[in-house]
Amino acid sequence: MDSKRIGILGGGQLGRMLVEAASRLNIQTVILDAANSPAKQINATSDHVDGSFTNYESIVKLAEKTDILTVEIEHVDVAALKKVQEKFPHIEIYPFPDTIKLIQDKYLQKEHFIQNHIDVAESVAVLNNTEEELSSIGEKFGYPFMLKSRTLAYDGRGNFVVKTKEYVSKALEFLKDRPLYAEKWCPFTKELAVMVVRSIDGEVFAYPTVETIHQNNVCHLVYAPARVVPTIAEKATILAKNAVKSFPGCGIFGVEMFLLPNNELLVNEIAPRPHNSGHYTIDACVTSQFEAHIRAVANLPMPKGFTELTTTSTNAIMLNILGDKTVPDKELEICRRALEIPHASVYLYGKTTRADRKMGHINIVSSSIQDCQSRLAYILDDESYLEK
Ligand code: ATP
Ligand code: MG
Ligand code: MG
Repeated sequence: MDSKRIGILGGGQLGRMLVEAASRLNIQTVILDAANSPAKQINATSDHVDGSFTNYESIVKLAEKTDILTVEIEHVDVAALKKVQEKFPHIEIYPFPDTIKLIQDKYLQKEHFIQNHIDVAESVAVLNNTEEELSSIGEKFGYPFMLKSRTLAYDGRGNFVVKTKEYVSKALEFLKDRPLYAEKWCPFTKELAVMVVRSIDGEVFAYPTVETIHQNNVCHLVYAPARVVPTIAEKATILAKNAVKSFPGCGIFGVEMFLLPNNELLVNEIAPRPHNSGHYTIDACVTSQFEAHIRAVANLPMPKGFTELTTTSTNAIMLNILGDKTVPDKELEICRRALEIPHASVYLYGKTTRADRKMGHINIVSSSIQDCQSRLAYILDDESYLEK
């Protein structure tokens, strides 16, 4: 389809699903990550790079083999990427290194959104990680408030809920010497997300607005479309598109949002890559988020409607499969139950099982959300999911 080779920084499950989408189009992908990482396991046609996406020499090795560089994780070494860009001016890098840099620091990301008139929760940088400073933020914001690591955050592991003044010291103990910022508490009624893909010529296409349900800060379920009135879904689409338009460059972005009790929408954060809330697109949409990203960075056609649900009655639920807390491989029992019923597709990432690690996901697609829910209840052997 395209003679250009795509190098991917990161070989986790997102990379693996990018490889899958690219190989259907006969586009060659080269992965930079540790040996035998999930994305490498399913792509033996390339000579991959064993190394790290935070290491300059490794990124150079990847660049030497490719024409386009992209990422499946935002925690890459941006300075190294910029040096690589100077060394290999013919290589296209998407998202732009400056976009990754801005998004990597969640506080700079917030400031960027404010400058671009995108609504976000009020936040403040923590200049000194001291009890005095956090207590004064508590007085200003009220309790609870959210203390967040500005960098290297994922699955809520850089977040601490400061419930009362008494939690200030615990918060500092937990987040130690990390660069921090504080965010006003958002009493959301739902969390919504929209995948948005931007073409090389700057056109943006939004996937449907979905609802994400977290457990212990990790995405547990995604409902597509979101169970909200159409005006809210539409508002979320516009907000997500505007958020993505504020960055130059192309590719897929995941936009996480909070729906507040007064129906106001705030952007929580943005990911400059495929996103967990978009896994449902593989089975429920005309084109998956992974193929959309490949098409965008390879400058392939992206026709109107390619991000839509397959039919007007398509409904989907995505269930994340996490490693069991005590019994290794116990998560496979859930996958086995999913294999017993139609309309459920199992994706396993080829990782060694570990407590709470994202091991795979299941997409349930049907013509009604009730039917998806009853299949989910069967898979999880838990009738309470009929109501959730
Ligand atoms: P991800 O894995 O999505 O990158 P992360 O570590 O970057 O996660 P956030 O998205 O900032 O973390 O927060 C994780 C979850 O914590 C949110 O999805 C939401 O449920 C909750 N949360 C975050 N910020 C707030 C807030 N200001 N008020 C209330 N809840 C919040
Ligand atoms: Mg995040
Ligand atoms: Mg998040």
